[in-house]
Amino acid sequence: MANHSLHGSSSRSVHAGVKRNKPHHAITTPITQTATYTFSDTADLVEFMQQKTWGGASGDREDYARYGNPSVYAVEERLAALEGGESALLFASGMAAITTLLLATLPTGTHIVMTDDCYRRTRQFCETFLKRLGIETSVVPVGDYDELEAAIIPKKTRFIISESPTNPYLRLMDFERLGAIGRTHKIRTVIDSTFGTPINQQPLAHGIDYVLHSATKYLGGHHDLLAGVLISTRDRITALRQAQGVMGAVLAPQIAYLLERGLRTLALRVDKQNENGLAVARYLEDHPKIEQVWYPGLASHPDHALALKQMSGYGGVISFTVRGDASCLIDGLRIPYIAPSLGGIESLIEQPAIMSYYEKEPEERLALGIPDNLIRFAIGIEDAQDLIDDLEQALEKL
Ligand SMILES: *Cc1c(COP(=O)(O)O)cnc(C)c1O
Repeated sequence: MANHSLHGSSSRSVHAGVKRNKPHHAITTPITQTATYTFSDTADLVEFMQQKTWGGASGDREDYARYGNPSVYAVEERLAALEGGESALLFASGMAAITTLLLATLPTGTHIVMTDDCYRRTRQFCETFLKRLGIETSVVPVGDYDELEAAIIPKKTRFIISESPTNPYLRLMDFERLGAIGRTHKIRTVIDSTFGTPINQQPLAHGIDYVLHSATKYLGGHHDLLAGVLISTRDRITALRQAQGVMGAVLAPQIAYLLERGLRTLALRVDKQNENGLAVARYLEDHPKIEQVWYPGLASHPDHALALKQMSGYGGVISFTVRGDASCLIDGLRIPYIAPSLGGIESLIEQPAIMSYYEKEPEERLALGIPDNLIRFAIGIEDAQDLIDDLEQALEKL
């Protein structure tokens, strides 16, 4: 539902894609907690069967809840509007969104190109599960567009997938350049925009075909739910909805309600996280006990110029290496929790060498670009000065 008076990101977070008249005159979308839907008589059922379309998100009824739920449709409308796309499809998790997209669209014998420095499970899925199905993956360094084009296999490559910003080094993909490469070679482009949020960047407007989010992170925003979403054209999403109805990784209506609740404050939260991220990154960069800081808002970041071009804020995730024992620094902090994930209201901190690569030997980790003194700080909505004071006291003890 287009509402052209919603120019600001906060107005859009509150109102975008939302029907003003909801059931029972409620201001919130009711949680339609049902596994199935009933028919008044056989004629009603026959009429439904005749009209049955897989479109969803149309306000039309369904027959069974794996094919759709109005509480979920409402959030899909909101996410499509926030991302500037025609249509959105929610999933039970970010991984369910990625795996359903690839399993539903890739035949055996095809190929995908993905960039390194990405969510580990996405790469694992492509390199092990898709490989078993005869689908090959080439991994290229993020930022190397020549190598990316060289990895394309004519008639075989179907997708180019990248995160932007990436994890953990916050590298950026040039959306316009990637979109142009995709169109030239007739390959679909996918951006995992989880770290970017629809507040800070809009990949579809720059020519990307699919935007994906782990809604578990900024979109939900409270570390209390798992969800994933894909946003694209109506036709592509309709086809995926049909596949999801078979594969089954649907979102539950209660989770949709929590996600919709989180989305209302998306811009407020992300604005604060942008502000905190920049303040903490600047503080860290100036500290003698810090070796290097990666944050796209800093002039020292390799993709800073691109960040200025395609992002309006740089988010809450900062990666940095410390001169000294990373575990000691983390253990000396009082505000952030030690936990994986990011994007919620509480700050979280982790040492990727332990949290994500514990089973690997230090040399293997180093080869993957994960030194033991690397820390990923996912900043919440606390006050920047409190976070800085906390870092100050912990760094002093190092
Ligand atoms: C967390 C994350 C995922 C996976 O999402 P889940 O909701 O945990 O399944 C995918 N991509 C990125 C960039 C992530 O941070």
